[in-house]
Amino acid sequence: MGRTRLDFLRMAMRIFVVNCGSSSIKYQLFDMADESVLAKGLLERIGTTTAMLHHSTNGRRGKGQIDLQIAAPNHTAGMAVILKALTDRDIGVLDSIDDIDGVGHRVVHGGEETTASSRIDEKLIALIRRNIDLAPLHNPPNLAGIEAAMATIHHAAHVAVFDTAFLSTLPPMAYRYAVPNEWHTKYHVRRYGFHGTSHRCVTLRAAELLGKPADKVNLITCHLGNGCSMTAVAGGKAVDHSMGMTPLEGLVMGTRCGDIDPAIVLRMIAVGMSPAEVDTALNKAGGLLGLSELSNDMRDLLSAADAGDANARLAVDVFVYRVAKYIGAYFTILPSLDAVVFTGGIGENSTPVRQAVCHYLARLGAIMDETRNSQAVGGQTGPITADGCKLPVWVIPTNEELMIARDTAAIVGPVSH
Ligand code: AMP
Repeated sequence: MGRTRLDFLRMAMRIFVVNCGSSSIKYQLFDMADESVLAKGLLERIGTTTAMLHHSTNGRRGKGQIDLQIAAPNHTAGMAVILKALTDRDIGVLDSIDDIDGVGHRVVHGGEETTASSRIDEKLIALIRRNIDLAPLHNPPNLAGIEAAMATIHHAAHVAVFDTAFLSTLPPMAYRYAVPNEWHTKYHVRRYGFHGTSHRCVTLRAAELLGKPADKVNLITCHLGNGCSMTAVAGGKAVDHSMGMTPLEGLVMGTRCGDIDPAIVLRMIAVGMSPAEVDTALNKAGGLLGLSELSNDMRDLLSAADAGDANARLAVDVFVYRVAKYIGAYFTILPSLDAVVFTGGIGENSTPVRQAVCHYLARLGAIMDETRNSQAVGGQTGPITADGCKLPVWVIPTNEELMIARDTAAIVGPVSH
């Protein structure tokens, strides 16, 4: 197929994707001509004099990996170190920072006001700031990353891609809680949902793989990683989702409890814990870790369970049971179901967890193909059920960074260098 003028303009486009946590910056630099990754890395322990940069390149000067200990008192200093690595004479993949055409920022919470990915300006920064109350752990470092990148990469367009955006189509029936109305109107208490970029990514890919138009596909997408969430997708749009006003609700996660009776919180405060202690316990000491008293990592729990550890077995069973229960609920509310999709570290790799979930789905028409299930690991895409069965189950690796890069490239538009 011949290239169009737009393809040639697009060939030159380099998009830098940034995902900032409170003490970390994860990044990838894409060449949008073929969507390849020129460089990627992780800077950890920002705020210390012993920050670690793990940076790998795959550019025209060859492949390379560096691990560097540096002082990074804040995100701005951290960003400077990363940009230096990208333009380094020996390991760099860019001649100059000016070669970056657009910067895509992952932003966790857009609140009720935003829907789509948008170019960052003063108004959008104010919006992200307004929603700090709803995501106190995430929006401040996202803003720090935006400010650090905008201060250095002046010439390029900066774009915010919101984790909540794909879930903004939930109807009130799904996003409202049965609490006093004023909690919603005055305090914005409602379901927002998270991991939206991942659910959007696998929804689009599933539509392609199933040969359906993106606005006709009906799915249940299960993002099972250290954080876990599930989305019911009707006609390509999210109609329900398991995470809530915060990422604590829903499935059992690495260290988060997922659904519990809210009265448990009051009970634990009544027996002497402070609200902060309960908060920490539910977010950091619950989930797989809390149940197993061993680990938040599914791999550890599966081997311990196989070796006879009863707590590890229970943790895996509760995890699987909750996933199956949510699939049952979403099956009921969807008009029809084309496929269940597994993604995330556990969803993409854990043959036993998928097998156990699919065991529950047999009555919905999922017939597992054990060979396919054991082969769908390490980034493979494919069905794990038998051809022709009523409910196909797929493994589709997620790629949130690529989604952010595509959104950013679309907003930047054609470039001409
Ligand atoms: P994520 O947050 O998507 O990076 O997923 C991280 C989680 O994936 C880890 O905590 C592990 O529990 C899980 N994981 C990764 N690889 C495997 C595997 N081969 N088998 C089971 N779980 C895995």
